[in-house]
Amino acid sequence: MAQIKKLLIANRGEIALRIHRACHEMGIRTVAVHSTADVDAMHVRLADEAICIGPPSATDSYLNIPNIISAAEISGADAIHPGYGFLSENARFAEIVEMHDLIFIGPKPEHIRTMGDKVEAKRTAGKLGLPLVPGSDGAISDVAEAKKLATDIGYPVIIKAASGGGGRGMKVCNSEDQLETLMQQAGTEAKAAFGDATVYMEKYLGNPRHIEFQIFGDGNGQAIHLGERDCSLQRRHQKVLEEAPSPIITPEERSRMGGIVAKAMADMGYRGAGTIEFLWEAGEFYFIEMNTRLQVEHPVTEMITGIDLVREQIRVAEGHPLSVTQDEVRFTGHAIECRINAEDPRTFMPSPGKVTQFHAPGGMHVRVDSGLYAGYKVPPYYDSMIAKLIVYGTTRERCIARLRRALEEFVIEGMKTTIPLHRDLIEDPEFQAGSYTIKWLEEWLAKQDA
Ligand code: ADP
Repeated sequence: MAQIKKLLIANRGEIALRIHRACHEMGIRTVAVHSTADVDAMHVRLADEAICIGPPSATDSYLNIPNIISAAEISGADAIHPGYGFLSENARFAEIVEMHDLIFIGPKPEHIRTMGDKVEAKRTAGKLGLPLVPGSDGAISDVAEAKKLATDIGYPVIIKAASGGGGRGMKVCNSEDQLETLMQQAGTEAKAAFGDATVYMEKYLGNPRHIEFQIFGDGNGQAIHLGERDCSLQRRHQKVLEEAPSPIITPEERSRMGGIVAKAMADMGYRGAGTIEFLWEAGEFYFIEMNTRLQVEHPVTEMITGIDLVREQIRVAEGHPLSVTQDEVRFTGHAIECRINAEDPRTFMPSPGKVTQFHAPGGMHVRVDSGLYAGYKVPPYYDSMIAKLIVYGTTRERCIARLRRALEEFVIEGMKTTIPLHRDLIEDPEFQAGSYTIKWLEEWLAKQDA
C-alpha cells in the first residue's frame, strides 16, 4: 500500500482549497501550482509550497502538462490531484503522471478515455446494462441515415458533440428540414471547441430532470453508490443549484437504481470517484454521460452521507479498500448547494473585480467552499464561480429555511454576484415544492425579466 506524503494540486480556486483541506486533515503536505494571475490566491497561501507554472492563460499554466510534471518533480510530490475541469478528464495526462511514478488521484486512464468520448461512453454504459436515451448507435455523419433515424425515434432530436462538455456543442432539431444544417453547425462548433467534429443523435426529452449518481470504485471489482443528486436547476445546460436527495426519488428507487450503477462500476473495475448522469422522465432513467472525476456539487453528497469524498479518493489511490460497504452507507437529511458566480444576477455578464467586503455565513450545518477574502482580486481569466454555499437540514424544509438564513448573511462586495438570484429562487413555491425540471429555471428567469 502506498502512502502519499506530499500531494500536488493541479487546480485553482475553491476546489484547490477543498483538496488542500482534505490533505492537511490526513497529514499530507500540499504543493500548489499557480499562474502568475493567482499569486494571491488563498490555496496558494495555505499550501505548504507553491510553484508558478506559467502566465494567466490556462493553456500556458493549468493545462501545461510539462510544467506541472516538472513542479511535481522539483517539489518531490508523490501524487497529483487534478480537481475538476482543466486536466481532470485528460487520459493522456493521467498516463504521463503514472509514467513519472506519481500517483494520479483518479480513475485508470483507459476509463477516463472511454468515458470522455460520449459515443464510446454510451456504448459502454449500454453493455453494462444501464438504460440509454434512444438515439444513434455511435457517431452519425451521413445525413440520409440521420434523417431516417430521426424519423424512427421521432422529433425533436438533439445533436451532441462526442467530445462535448460543460453543456456546449448541442443542437435541438425539431424537423427534418433543419437537420442537415444543424448537423453541420454542430460539427463545426464541436471542431472549434473540442478539436473533434464527431456528433451523435439522441431523442430530445421534453421535460426531464437531471439526476446523477455518485459512485466509488476500488479498482478491484468493488463499487458502491452514494445516492443521487438532483441537478435539474440549470441555465444554458449548466448547473446553478443542486440538491441531495432528489425531491422525487424514493428510497426504493434510490437503492434499485444505485444498485444497478454500482454493479456496472464493479463490473468495469472502476477506480475512484465517478458520476453517472441520467435524465429522468416519467419514472424512467436514461443515461447521458459519465464524469470520471470529482464534481463541483460533490459536497451535497458529503453532507447527507458524512463521507469525505476527497479523503476517499486519496485512500483509494493509495490502494486501500473502500472505507464503507454499501450497507454501511446511511442517507440522512437534506442538503442544497448554491453556486455563486461573479456575474450580474440578471444578465449573467461576468463581473470580476476586487472584493471590498467579505463575510461568509456560518452556524450549524452551513459550509462555504470559497477562496475569497477581503482585498482579493478575482482574476478575469477563469471560470466565474467564486463560492459554493452548502447547507444541511434534517428535512428539505429545514434545509431551505437554513439556506434562506445563510443567504441573508452572505456579504460579497466589490462585484456583482448571483447571491440575489439564489435568494429569489428559493422563495418560489414550485422550487419549494421540488417540482421543477431542467427547463424550469430558464422559464422562471424569463418571467423575472418580463
Ligand atoms: P455536457 O457533457 O455538455 O454537460 P450532457 O450530455 O451531460 O452534456 O448534457 C447536459 C444537459 O443538457 C443535461 O443536463 C440536459 O439538461 C441537456 N440534455 C442533454 N441531452 C439531452 C436530451 N437527450 N434531451 C433533453 N435534454 C438533454
